[in-house]
Amino acid sequence: MLHERLIEALGAGAVKTSPEDLAVYAFDAYSQAPPPAAVVLPANTRDVAAVVKIANDCGEPIVARGAGTGLCGGAVPLHRGIVISFARMNRMLELDARNRRARVQPGLVNLDLSRTVESSGLFYAPDPASQKSSTIGGNCGTNAGGPHCLGYGTTVNHVLGLEVVDHQGETFTTSIDDVGYDLTAALVGSEGTLGIITAIDVRLLRLPEAVRVWLAAFGDVESASGCVSAIVAAGIVPTALEIMDDVIVKAVEAAFGAGYPLDAGAVLLIEHAGFADDMDEREHAIERIAAEHGALSWRAARTQAERDALWAGRKGAAGATGRIAPNYYTQDVCVPRSKLPAALHFVQESARRHGLTVGNVFHAGDGNLHPLLMYDRRETKQVAAVIETGNEILQACVELGGTISGEHGVGVEKREAMTLVYSTEDLAAMANVRDVFDPKWKLNPEKIFPAGTRCPELP
Ligand SMILES: Cc1cc2nc3c(=O)[nH]c(=O)nc-3n(C[C@H](O)[C@H](O)[C@H](O)COP(=O)(O)OP(=O)(O)OC[C@H]3O[C@@H](n4cnc5c(N)ncnc54)[C@H](O)[C@@H]3O)c2cc1C
Repeated sequence: MLHERLIEALGAGAVKTSPEDLAVYAFDAYSQAPPPAAVVLPANTRDVAAVVKIANDCGEPIVARGAGTGLCGGAVPLHRGIVISFARMNRMLELDARNRRARVQPGLVNLDLSRTVESSGLFYAPDPASQKSSTIGGNCGTNAGGPHCLGYGTTVNHVLGLEVVDHQGETFTTSIDDVGYDLTAALVGSEGTLGIITAIDVRLLRLPEAVRVWLAAFGDVESASGCVSAIVAAGIVPTALEIMDDVIVKAVEAAFGAGYPLDAGAVLLIEHAGFADDMDEREHAIERIAAEHGALSWRAARTQAERDALWAGRKGAAGATGRIAPNYYTQDVCVPRSKLPAALHFVQESARRHGLTVGNVFHAGDGNLHPLLMYDRRETKQVAAVIETGNEILQACVELGGTISGEHGVGVEKREAMTLVYSTEDLAAMANVRDVFDPKWKLNPEKIFPAGTRCPELP
């Protein structure tokens, strides 16, 4: 019945029902769930609305899916249901270069957007390290950040409006120019629980006149992160401040030969974009602070090729850890910048106590840590150690005044951890918002909220 109705509405080519096809959609980059009942690949907003209406008639929940690179189980279907993949809605629909904005479909890959508008002298700023594959729709789902979000802000700062299909299959639009409640901001970061995004108006920025990238090497991550705090405290906000420790640098160099020093305990990658005339002054100021904080060496990447190589290494860091262990788990936590040294010390200690190798690669300027815990998923003891270490790090960062996610979202992974930072009353207030958008919690059920916050009416 469900399959027939979906095929009737969208055509057989847009509906996947075979077990081997469905199995592919049971994963994201964090977890696995039972396969969905059906996967649909709509071609337009009308198709999405039709699918939501059929899902309602058949009592099936719906999970929106971009590229499935999410790191908290947000795109996995916990209750079978229908997965809406936006793989075919992957185009830029309109470019308004004069007003520096574009309308895009949710399945457009993040990096493809910047590549498409580059010839107009523009770019799209939020750049998650997954930008070669993650989609603008998925980035809206998680309010994705990225290395350059220190200077430019996260996804929510670059979304001007949305087209959304609601829980009943009706379409509405939002705009940041609307007076009254800012529904755009409410939807960005809602992980597919408030509505299905079918088009996005994005802000584009002018390519900067000048860009410089510098690399400072330190004896350890604590001194590198102390330097980061000092740079920002001095009133300098570079576009990116990224740290990698020696474990990560070794893996990156083996994979990419990007030019990072192998004899440092940690490296700080600094990028500043702006006017050409300001660059020398900025460089001297940052280099001086780095020296005061014990930098062992300082290097400027003078050519585009050198800059690209350093960034390719940084953005490929997670994949490069395949050289260390068959699996890694990424913890995503935030602390106030000044608490980075303490948080990093705790990460090292906790991993050591549990006998795990940990590598740190993170958005230091935002205080957003990403300890990568290496393990082999076939070894149950290692899996248990990773879970325990991950939880300890989460708890410690909250105690340091931080929070449970910097950018990856809550999904399934951190729904219970929400109680570490929100009271029962806070969660009830948030659940009320969800009730308004989706009274039966059919859109991505059981995500974000701890079990028992509400009883979703599921089959
Ligand atoms: C190697 C690696 C590096 C990463 N680096 C970063 C990083 O630097 N910064 C960062 O923030 N994240 C990072 N991530 C995590 C991930 O890439 C982001 O969360 C990204 O935004 C997910 O995009 P996606 O297209 O893969 O979405 P998916 O994983 O498919 O979905 C993510 C969430 O968005 C929802 N969603 C998807 N499409 C829609 C839609 N059209 N309407 C409503 N909801 C929707 C889904 O239901 C789900 O809850 C990284 C992941 C990997 C594997």
